[in-house]
Amino acid sequence: MANLFYFPVPITIDFYYLRPLYYILAMSVQTGAAKADTNNNAGKIVMGGIRPTGFLHLGNYFGAIRNYIKLQNEFECYFMIADLHSLTTHPDTKELKSNVQRVLAEHLASGLDPDKAAIYCQSHIKETNELYLILNMLAYKGELEKTVTFKEKVRLQPDNANAGLLTYPVLQTADILLHRASYVPVGKDQEQHLEMARTFANRFNYRYGDIFPEPGAFNFNQKLVKVPSLDGTGKMSKSENQMATLYLSDDDDSIRKKVKKAKTDSGAQEAGAGKSEFIENLFLLMSLVSKDEVIQKYEQDFNNGTIRYGDMKEQLGNDMVSFIAPIRQKTIDILENKKYLQEVMEKGAEKARKSAAATMELVRESMGLNYF
Ligand code: ADP
Repeated sequence: MANLFYFPVPITIDFYYLRPLYYILAMSVQTGAAKADTNNNAGKIVMGGIRPTGFLHLGNYFGAIRNYIKLQNEFECYFMIADLHSLTTHPDTKELKSNVQRVLAEHLASGLDPDKAAIYCQSHIKETNELYLILNMLAYKGELEKTVTFKEKVRLQPDNANAGLLTYPVLQTADILLHRASYVPVGKDQEQHLEMARTFANRFNYRYGDIFPEPGAFNFNQKLVKVPSLDGTGKMSKSENQMATLYLSDDDDSIRKKVKKAKTDSGAQEAGAGKSEFIENLFLLMSLVSKDEVIQKYEQDFNNGTIRYGDMKEQLGNDMVSFIAPIRQKTIDILENKKYLQEVMEKGAEKARKSAAATMELVRESMGLNYF
């Protein structure tokens, strides 16, 4: 029988005849639970990555790094600085060196332990390129063009709709599958990419043999996090809307100023009124860094209609400073020790290469690329 799962199906008439079935099968993979199945953790592997396109921010911390820190104690973990991914948006590569070093230092300052997890640079693992190429044959133009992040990037950079940008989710899948990872700690913005990674892994398994576990987005709190930007227009992000993003490197003054400018609405609402999106965002930010009793106080004030957003933002500014300042200081200290940073990165790459090489052996064997 023709293989229903893949384009192109060799006989045209078959293709049209079978297309509805193809869609049903493909959809069931696409819409299947995007989250990791955490019922059985034995032997599960964790993989995550962050692009060195600028300084890390609160979204990177609460979407990814906070989970990395917990996961490194329980699982075999691979955490990657995605320098190749960052090339898709054509950064000035002269800045890569300092950006990679800073992002590495920020990972360590946030609590990642190189004795527990492999922390490495994407371009140091050559096997990535081979798996990326193979997976590209299992990814279709139509589905890649529909990716929300691709459409958004093309909207922002209409002159740079390059093939790397289009196949970004394929490279991300290669990074994950290279370690046969099941859990991928990411923020909500990456949900669709993770669904695509599951689809590509399933396609490979179906065509060549069952060697990859299904990867799933992972968050300890179950729901994936989206840390909103302070101007209420989207998510905090490294390179866009910098005045509305809190960076792990921001000084105390900038943190307080940015929080003070956060969008709110006109003031105390009537008791029992629902929260507007701006106010939801403010409470969400508070839930990340403030003590329970502080959050409860402002929830109560909101419910009574007595809340003063100026006070709430002052409190939030102070709590943000308490959270960010120690990480900022630690990053500065770590950055002074380049030898240590280099050792961490080399040690991580060595471990990641071993895992990648073992996977590629399996991949080549299952595809029949070993000829003698
Ligand atoms: P950025 O969008 O800042 O360039 P990356 O694309 O490098 O970040 O993503 C690195 C990790 O940080 C991913 O796991 C992503 O889901 C997470 N992340 C980025 N921004 C946010 C955010 N505002 N809220 C939650 N998670 C985020």
